[in-house]
Amino acid sequence: MDAATITTPTVLILLGPPGAGKGTQARMLEEKFGLLQLSTGDLLRAAVAAGTEAGKAAKAVMEAGDLVSDEIVIAILRDRMAEPDCAKGVILDGFPRTTVQAEALDELLAENNQKISAAISLEVEDAEMVIRISGRYTCAMCGEGYHDRFKTPAVEGKCDNCGSTEFKRRADDNAETVASRLTAYHAQTAPLITYYDGHGVLKRTNAMGKIEDIARDLEEIAGNAMS
Ligand code: AMP
Repeated sequence: MDAATITTPTVLILLGPPGAGKGTQARMLEEKFGLLQLSTGDLLRAAVAAGTEAGKAAKAVMEAGDLVSDEIVIAILRDRMAEPDCAKGVILDGFPRTTVQAEALDELLAENNQKISAAISLEVEDAEMVIRISGRYTCAMCGEGYHDRFKTPAVEGKCDNCGSTEFKRRADDNAETVASRLTAYHAQTAPLITYYDGHGVLKRTNAMGKIEDIARDLEEIAGNAMS
C-alpha cells in the first residue's frame, strides 16, 4: 500500500447492519465532537454519480446489495483519509466491512502512528432493520436523514436543517436489496465484532431505542475513547 500521509487524532468506527442508524449517529457525533463523518457508501454513490472507473465497477454490485470489492473501497477510503479535513479526526461509517478492509485500515493507521480510538457496535434485530430502511429518506440538499414513521420534518415537506423542499430515497433501500445487504452483513461484516474485541477497542451499544437515547450512549462512549 502507498504511504498516504494522514494525521487523525481520533478514529471512531461505527459497526452495524444496514439500518442500524450509523449514518444518523455519525452525523450527530460529527457535530458534537467536531469530527468528520466518512461514509464509504456516500463516497461510492458519489463515484457512481460522477461515472468514475470505480463508480462504474461498483454500480451493479451496490444495486444488488452485495459488497463492492475490497480493492476499490480501500483505495477510495485511503485517498479520502489523506485529505486535510480528516486531520480533526474521523468517524468511519460503513467501513471496514470485511476483515481484509479492517487489516488494511490497521496498516494505514500504523504507517502514520495512528490507532483506532473505538469500534462501536450498534446492536439491532434484523426485523427492525427492514422497517427502518424501507421508510427512510434524506434531504437532497444537506443530507439530513428522515423516516416516514420515526422522524418527519417539523414542517411537512421542508427540511428542518436547511429548508430545502427536495428529498430523495436510495435506490438500494428496497425489500429485495435489503435482504441481500443483511446477508452480506452477517457473512462478512459481523465477524469484525470479534476482530475488534480481540484488539481491545470494541464497545457495544443497544441501538433499538430512540435516536436521542442512542446518541447519548454514543456520546459517552466516544467522549471516553477520545479522552
Ligand atoms: P451504505 O451507504 O453504507 O449502506 O452502503 C451502500 C452500499 O455501498 C453497500 O450495500 C455496498 O454495496 C457498498 N459499500 C459501502 N461501503 C462498503 C464497504 N466498506 N465495502 C464494500 N462495499 C461497501
